[in-house]
Amino acid sequence: MMKLFNTLTRQKEEFVPITPGEVKMYVCGPTVYNYFHIGNARTFTVFDAMRRYLEYRGFNVTYVQNFTDVDDKIIKKANEEGVTSKDISERYIEEYFKDADAIGIKRATMYPKVTENINEIIDFIKKLIDKGYAYEALGDVYYNTNKFNEYGKLSKQSIEELEAGARIDVNEAKKSPTDFVLWKKQKPGEPGWDSPWSKGRPGWHIECSVMATKYLGETIDIHAGGQDLTFPHHENEIAQSEAFTGKPLSRYWTHAAFLNINNEKMSKSKNNFFNVRDILAEFDSEVVRFFLLSAHYRSPINFGRELMQQAKNALDRLYNSKENLEHLLKNKDKEAMKHGEEEVLQSLLSHKDKFITAMDDDLNTADAIAAIFELVKDINTNIDVEASKELIEKSLELFKELTAVLGLVNKKQENLDDKIEMLIEKRQKARKERDFALADKIRDDLKAQGIVLEDTPQGVKWKRI
Ligand code: AMP
Ligand code: ZN
Repeated sequence: MMKLFNTLTRQKEEFVPITPGEVKMYVCGPTVYNYFHIGNARTFTVFDAMRRYLEYRGFNVTYVQNFTDVDDKIIKKANEEGVTSKDISERYIEEYFKDADAIGIKRATMYPKVTENINEIIDFIKKLIDKGYAYEALGDVYYNTNKFNEYGKLSKQSIEELEAGARIDVNEAKKSPTDFVLWKKQKPGEPGWDSPWSKGRPGWHIECSVMATKYLGETIDIHAGGQDLTFPHHENEIAQSEAFTGKPLSRYWTHAAFLNINNEKMSKSKNNFFNVRDILAEFDSEVVRFFLLSAHYRSPINFGRELMQQAKNALDRLYNSKENLEHLLKNKDKEAMKHGEEEVLQSLLSHKDKFITAMDDDLNTADAIAAIFELVKDINTNIDVEASKELIEKSLELFKELTAVLGLVNKKQENLDDKIEMLIEKRQKARKERDFALADKIRDDLKAQGIVLEDTPQGVKWKRI
């Protein structure tokens, strides 16, 4: 049984989708005016892991992630560069895929965009006006938050508290400080579409209500995003959609905690961000992914070089273990499990149980990774040249099965064994030529990589330590 923490109830709840075996999941995607930073990457990666785990558990997941391609920041950037908003958003959607693919984020089932849904957005707003939940003011349209009795239910704030904390900007014609814009009248230099109220563009929140309903249905299973989206974005989505349909927008609301830098949220506005693109120049993409999954998604995580280095070392250990198994298999003939190996296998499988228990418990990737390391330790202690081919194969399969759920240890390594053999040959040659300094250096370098050489009457043998 899988449990998810539902922001709506502030409780871990058993996950039961509306249609057995099917999961409809909507994740709020990026505003495409720049490369995405490692904070954004955390949110995208943890929900990718949630999706992969649901698939591993046998669900068929329809995963929708939007691109916000109409936005003030896009317009600003377009005007600065003297190009259109479309030029900017198309460019950064392309760049998004480069980085997202690199860090192993599976492609969504669909990537709807605002610009492709303008008619649907207009129709949705019209219906909200007809139902009395929205009003026009000087060409803009606002949502009337006082009309929606449950406003504040996701962020657990009363409308009075929210009103006290909000204010009306001088150029806004809204009635209450908590009302929010659904349609904005065009200003000079901005893109605009014809509508019954003005030539203009949609506000931010409406796009997700429209797209979630259009692509997934009136009630979806999981709605996800970073923690900052709880209020106002998701609160407003609920107000819009539930006023529109009279049904819950989503059964489960899941939010990822922030990735921080010096204990402060990483964000573009604070200018304390690192783009994934730049980090990838320094660290392998799987190290980035490993780092992002090494904490539970509802705990804040601090970004720093030291932690990245630790992630790299940990990931190296996983790769070493896999290579070790592959190396052991190479020289084995077909051989069934031997007497006494059943217990070893049972012990290895107990780590899979722990992995599943951890992931079932609100996607605890931190504990799941710990279970993988226990598996590796068990493999390193119990599987050696004496093991049967069948047991080695089963160990490798298990290792690959669990790491694949997290999208880790996926890379085809250049064949390390061949590289080691080459270095050993080079060392033999150096010794023949009495270049002992070079021969010793090669031995030391290999040792630093965990490879020890043994000179035997049959030639040089090597093993991993
Ligand atoms: P944006 O492009 O700013 O709309 O953000 C895209 C996604 O990244 C949203 O789900 C945000 O909640 C999330 N996000 C932004 N900053 C952070 C951060 N520092 N840590 C985790 N998630 C973040
Ligand atoms: Zn959204």
